[in-house]
Amino acid sequence: MAAAPAALVFDLDGTLIDSDAALVAPFVRLGVPLEAITFGHVLADECARLGVDVDAYLDLYDPGATQPFPGVVDLVAGLGRWAVCSNKHPRSGHAELARLGWLPEVALFADAFTGPKTLGPVLAALDLPPDAVVFVGDTEHDRAAAARAGVRFVLAGWNPRARAADGDLVARTPIEVLALVA
Ligand SMILES: [Mg+2]
Repeated sequence: MAAAPAALVFDLDGTLIDSDAALVAPFVRLGVPLEAITFGHVLADECARLGVDVDAYLDLYDPGATQPFPGVVDLVAGLGRWAVCSNKHPRSGHAELARLGWLPEVALFADAFTGPKTLGPVLAALDLPPDAVVFVGDTEHDRAAAARAGVRFVLAGWNPRARAADGDLVARTPIEVLALVA
């Protein structure tokens, strides 16, 4: 049994906040077919893939249209050291944290990484080794980022879009994360 983590690191979209509809809306308004849109990527990459200008997307993105998943507010209120590691654009990411009144010790968004997010800069900012943190995310990209960094992973199973892989620790509710890693 691993020791309890010194800090929890969370993905944002699809993990702490239910943002699928908010993320999709600008693409749809810019003429992208719904079925072409995917989740968990760096916004600039997804915009490039879909032929959409990032600034045009951000002008249409409404950070006020997202909500924390049920139970997340209680989870966040009970956290000790915690951080956010997200591929989200920093403009909308920081706006959402501010709106929700969340103050993670570290919040790194797409501008902190050269390409898809990695946990290395988060660990450095927290001044913690990989075995002292747990990463909570909803996509295979999150699982892979945790594996590459040697960090334990918990799947945000409360997101109906999250798909478990063999060996995943799966939290069915946000608060269950704390019991899984205790
Ligand atoms: Mg996500």
